[in-house]
Amino acid sequence: MQNTRMPVMFVGHGNPMNAFEDNEFSQAWTQVGASLLVPRAILCISAHWETIGTEVTAMPQPKTIHDFYGFPPELFALQYPAPGSPELAEDIRSTVKSIDIQPDQNWGLDHGTWSVLKRMFPQANIPVLQLSLDRTQSAQFHYDLGQELKPLRRQGVLIIGSGNIVHNLGLVVWKDIAFDWAQDYDARVKDWILQDDHEPIIHYETYGRPAHLAVNSAEHYEPLLYVLGLKEPGEPVQFFTEKIWGGSVSMRSVLIG
Ligand code: ZN
Repeated sequence: MQNTRMPVMFVGHGNPMNAFEDNEFSQAWTQVGASLLVPRAILCISAHWETIGTEVTAMPQPKTIHDFYGFPPELFALQYPAPGSPELAEDIRSTVKSIDIQPDQNWGLDHGTWSVLKRMFPQANIPVLQLSLDRTQSAQFHYDLGQELKPLRRQGVLIIGSGNIVHNLGLVVWKDIAFDWAQDYDARVKDWILQDDHEPIIHYETYGRPAHLAVNSAEHYEPLLYVLGLKEPGEPVQFFTEKIWGGSVSMRSVLIG
């Protein structure tokens, strides 16, 4: 596995029930997980862990965090008992030179991570770490930090960004529709990714109203910036799920490499 470049992916995670429900998204996650080389470890950048400063989970046994409410008891009972890796947390801290990443002993695995990994790697036997999103930083910062993580791809580490490219929960409707602006921005981002044109994705606000509505909560968009920062020019790209859910959430997922 040394010298093999691991793929990197962004997963549109959506509703936590995707961890349980057999639907087009969870089925696609299962298939992608089964198609990959088994990674040495997984580093997940989840929309659901925001901090001041960047942190990496560094405990040997991260807990499963049920960071939502109003869902059935089965979802609260679900555990994803993957080990952590204090050693890899140290490696990540020394790989990144531009900032001082802090080791964390309190977080664990939030649903942005386990709802996806439960389907991709159901045995929960691969070490999993999370890297937090510094909520005080710009889109450019997140993209640049993704670039700094590139050496991990050659060390058997599968890096996953988990969020949603279009995410506006205030406008969700419980119907199978897509708002025009959501479809518009999701399609633009798809084209920009295929063209290796990351500048307009970083400077999304220049796209105007569709982008403002789509990136209503930047924490669900920012994991994509890490994933694109990790991409080498010309690497192949696949979109293994692509659908607007509830009018205002894009379930687009991207596999690179
Ligand atoms: Zn979410």
